[in-house]
Amino acid sequence: MSQQINHPTISETEIIRPTRVEVDLNAIKENYQKIKEHVGSCKIMPILKANAYGHGLLRIARFFEELNADYLGVAVVEEGILLREKGINIPILVLGGVWGNQVPLFLKHNLAITASSIDKLNQINDTAGQMKVKAIVHLKIDTGMERIGVHYYNAEKFLDAAYKCKNIEVEGIYSHFANSDAADLTYAKLQLERFKEVLSFFEKRSIETPYRHFSNSGALLQLPEANFDMVRPGIMLFGIYPTKEVNKTVEIKPALTWKSLVVYFKVIMPNHPVGYDSTFTTDHNIRAVTIPVGYGDGYLRSMSHKAEVLIRGKRYPVIGTISMDQIVINIDNDSAYNGDVVILLGDDGANIITCQELADWAGTNPYEILTNINTRVPRVYNE
Ligand SMILES: *Cc1c(COP(=O)(O)O)cnc(C)c1O
Repeated sequence: MSQQINHPTISETEIIRPTRVEVDLNAIKENYQKIKEHVGSCKIMPILKANAYGHGLLRIARFFEELNADYLGVAVVEEGILLREKGINIPILVLGGVWGNQVPLFLKHNLAITASSIDKLNQINDTAGQMKVKAIVHLKIDTGMERIGVHYYNAEKFLDAAYKCKNIEVEGIYSHFANSDAADLTYAKLQLERFKEVLSFFEKRSIETPYRHFSNSGALLQLPEANFDMVRPGIMLFGIYPTKEVNKTVEIKPALTWKSLVVYFKVIMPNHPVGYDSTFTTDHNIRAVTIPVGYGDGYLRSMSHKAEVLIRGKRYPVIGTISMDQIVINIDNDSAYNGDVVILLGDDGANIITCQELADWAGTNPYEILTNINTRVPRVYNE
């Protein structure tokens, strides 16, 4: 296991914090290849927003560049600029909305821009003209998300405007699903019909169709007719299904293990409450160990009184309220020692704690669990 650390303050030569995320790049590669087989000749745009779903933006972007991915997608321009400054050369699309004053940054760093209104098209076109470059643009159509994008029922004017912009190359056109990962696909299918209606523009005007893309992980799994020219998987690449009910048509495996080490052992006596607000008290002597992780790392406080961890192949409950930097585990009559490995998320060979479980404990989804593991936790990569 090489120790490449994606952390702002700790250098590679320093001894890293035992609370860390281990990322299995081979699992990501296998997931990517499974997706590739599933979508055939269709292109793939790995979505690496929010620190690559907590897996470490730069290393994961480099990895996909090594795998010859067609495109990368990020949410905000800063993520794209970071990748360019670190030497990532493959095409990058910023999925979020753009402000006019950001356009020079996109152009300088050769980042593809999401255009979501005629005003924005004009700003992009003007700036590109001043800078004497061509802006690469993907047109965003709102087919039912009401977030950004031109409504499907106003798209024709928008497309006409785009093709009048001399300094814009329309490279793509896309939309986004609101619930393609649900059991009921009625709304997703309605969105798909609306998008197809918009796409009839190209035939009507005899304009060559740019890259059409629509599918996130949910649609990739459940709506093959939405693949078009390119798919945009995010969470699936990391081996996690977007929901419990999604049809698991592609077999994937989780890439992330969140680990720590036992740092303290003690016996807790009855009537000696544990942690802030004294929310847990034992009625008999218990053995307990303390682990140096907390909500300050993204181990969410809302998991208090529900979360479990793995130590020596067994599950044990977190007791008391989760602190910013520490949690306490009840091992009852069992043994554990300082330095024992603790699995917070992932498997130890025999047992597993899934991302979906953490999500259930916290009352959220797997996305929020992953993207909350923050930069205080070093990332270590196997390869
Ligand atoms: C996040 C995102 C994706 C990827 O979604 P997953 O559910 O993680 O696959 C695709 N497209 C857009 C526009 C997104 O914002």
